[in-house]
Amino acid sequence: MSVILVTGGSGLVGKAIQYVIETEPEGSRFGKKPGETWVFAGSADGDLRDQAQTKKLFEKYKPTHVIHLAALVGGLFANMKYKLDFLRDNVLINDNVLHTSHLTGVKKVISCLSTCVYPDKVEYPLDETKIHLGLPHDSNFGYAYAKRMVDVSNHAYKDQFGHNFTSAIPTNVFGPHDNYDLESAHVIPGLVHKCYLAKKNGTPFVVGGTGKPLRQFIYSQDLAKLFIWMLRNYDDVEPLILSVDETEEVSIKQVADAIVKAVGFEGEYTFDTARADGQFRKPASNKKLLSLVGDFQFTPFEQALDESVKWFLENYDTART
Ligand code: NDP
Repeated sequence: MSVILVTGGSGLVGKAIQYVIETEPEGSRFGKKPGETWVFAGSADGDLRDQAQTKKLFEKYKPTHVIHLAALVGGLFANMKYKLDFLRDNVLINDNVLHTSHLTGVKKVISCLSTCVYPDKVEYPLDETKIHLGLPHDSNFGYAYAKRMVDVSNHAYKDQFGHNFTSAIPTNVFGPHDNYDLESAHVIPGLVHKCYLAKKNGTPFVVGGTGKPLRQFIYSQDLAKLFIWMLRNYDDVEPLILSVDETEEVSIKQVADAIVKAVGFEGEYTFDTARADGQFRKPASNKKLLSLVGDFQFTPFEQALDESVKWFLENYDTART
């Protein structure tokens, strides 16, 4: 019997894991296995910045395994403005989850880092050995240091107690249940929302920057499957990058084109080249993942984007806008 607690279970990635567990055939590679109970906890089930509430949550569900996704997550603007909040909230959340897992005998914890926590000046492609090789970008150092400390903690728990605590490093994630708030959204949900409004209001769809930068995007449902695979098969303290291949990078223009098509927008569509582009590319290698996971099919980008846009249009009234 195992109880898998997913913290951050109400967010983009947590909802995708819940969807996969509930829709894949029982007993299949990514479906629910006999004897498994899955619990998806959001912040309403307990504020993980608070030690007592974390303890209460663990006492209630008695997890044997934890997929730890809960985090204060935000776009560039929020990260720059609230550095101390991003540092403290995430340090507290991570320490409470890992230490309570330690105290209650949880067998395995997979925490979630991000390719945003890598050094600003680093040799590309990113891989699992480069997380601590330099200062993070100044814009998000609070979030970055808090996340990097998870890897440090995992090593300390392993060295002192032999625990099976590890971490995953996703690239940019998108999918149903994303954050579509125009102020704080990541690039895909932000552009989807903007395009939707342009169509509704008969105004131009303006994309910030030249559209040339390249990024690796992973569909939340593919990421969910990889988390489920990691839970069952990956027992190493070293982190694992969960990403599509470097050859699958897409430009922001390709993203915007696909959004225009999926939304059915036929109005004026331009790029505001006066706006900053950010880094041209910051590729991450998925070599280690591919050497371990065996046969795995990533959903083609346009199909995943279509499904995400469809979800947004159908759920506009309740989506995080
Ligand atoms: P979301 O913002 O969609 O979800 C965040 C989740 O964390 C929600 O379930 C939220 O609960 C929960 N949460 C936040 N604060 C607290 C708290 N104090 N106590 C308890 N729960 C809390 O994030 P994502 O799903 O996008 O991210 C999941 C993980 O993936 C994070 O660790 C993030 O750093 C990482 N990641 C995300 C990427 C992306 O592109 N989105 C890229 C790489 C990594 P509620 O909503 O109920 O308040």
